[in-house]
Amino acid sequence: MQENNVSRLGFEACQKCSICNEVCPMMEVNPLYPGPKKAGPDQERYRLKDPVFYDYALKYCLNCKRCEVACPSGVHVADLIQRARLDYAPSPKHPLRDTMLASTDFVGSLASPFAPIVNAVLPLKPVKAILDGAFAIDKRRTFPKYSPKTFVSWFRREAAPRQKEFSRFVSFFHGCYANYNYPQLGKDFVKVMNAAGYGVHLLEKERCCGVALMANGMEKQALKQARTNIASMVTAAGKGEMILTASSSCTFMMRNEYGEVLGLPSEGYRDSLELACKWLYEKIEAGEVKLDFRPDFKMKLSYHTACHMQRLGWQNYTIELLRMIPGVSLTVLDQNCCGISGTFGFKKEYYGYSQEIGARLFDDIKASNPEAVVSECETCKWQIEMNTGIPVMNPLSVLAAALKP
Ligand code: SF4
Ligand code: SF4
Repeated sequence: MQENNVSRLGFEACQKCSICNEVCPMMEVNPLYPGPKKAGPDQERYRLKDPVFYDYALKYCLNCKRCEVACPSGVHVADLIQRARLDYAPSPKHPLRDTMLASTDFVGSLASPFAPIVNAVLPLKPVKAILDGAFAIDKRRTFPKYSPKTFVSWFRREAAPRQKEFSRFVSFFHGCYANYNYPQLGKDFVKVMNAAGYGVHLLEKERCCGVALMANGMEKQALKQARTNIASMVTAAGKGEMILTASSSCTFMMRNEYGEVLGLPSEGYRDSLELACKWLYEKIEAGEVKLDFRPDFKMKLSYHTACHMQRLGWQNYTIELLRMIPGVSLTVLDQNCCGISGTFGFKKEYYGYSQEIGARLFDDIKASNPEAVVSECETCKWQIEMNTGIPVMNPLSVLAAALKP
């Protein structure tokens, strides 16, 4: 048990205003869930006295952090809940399923070499029925596709030699999604950074950020991977390089949850770790970077603020960056949770909640009728694409498409 983390010490600041309950998407759809006030600070008092007071209904928390954004007293409500789950939750009912869903690095490295077969087999009805029946992975869920070639293999082969032409560098934390599922996102990152006058380095060693491991109670593995990432990020920051990312979930995990939930030190890397769009916006505003956009680029886009992006508070950097592209018409959607919450929405017992929670967002998206939705979160992308049929782009991919050749 982590006894000295920041979150656990802050719960006494709660003034019992219940504002957090008003914004909790799970409380709205699930009468079994006690809500953030009760699940967080209220029950923490009892849990600290005796773990027997652990409430099994905490398994429903999405860790969306909306309660923390709303709390006027700065209570780390969701961190309290995450910590309690890690400390007291009973063994999962489906340990193999949870391990498979959470081990994104391991599963990605197995699936990627066989991507054409995996991509053809996973959507088949009999396969989905087996996954549903034997592993409790809901058959209605669409799986992300795997890429036959990873981003890292492309980078080493094709991009790395070109980076020597630059004198300024950033380090890129590419994440599992760009590496195993959608290398084009990593290619877009490199294109944008090179256009901004920066070469790209990869970290010495990168592991999955561990957000899914933590959500599935696999703390030991999450800590191991976090320590590897921290060591690599400290090395990169020590060379004076910013560590930039494309995914809001990975970024939030590494900047906030490594320290606040896992109790790891954040010195030496945290201030150098940012989402690429925030960094780019600030460089452009400071006059240090100029991006040349195609005059004929036209796109009607809707921006979805992922929950962890909202907690980071960085959505306006992306929104303003997108508005710098001539020809972009941008609608900013209301901040509603998409409901998937990483691996949560893949699980049979939670699938219905994930769909119900996301319904308002899906309606808003359809009403705004964009050519594409923009969001930094890959799991929001899966959920939105499955439910609306409208493609979701990372803002870096929009920038890359809008750049002059
Ligand atoms: S993290 Fe989200 S789901 Fe969990 S208590 Fe807070 S608002 Fe509710
Ligand atoms: S919003 Fe903050 S202060 Fe108010 S009840 Fe929730 S945790 Fe307590």
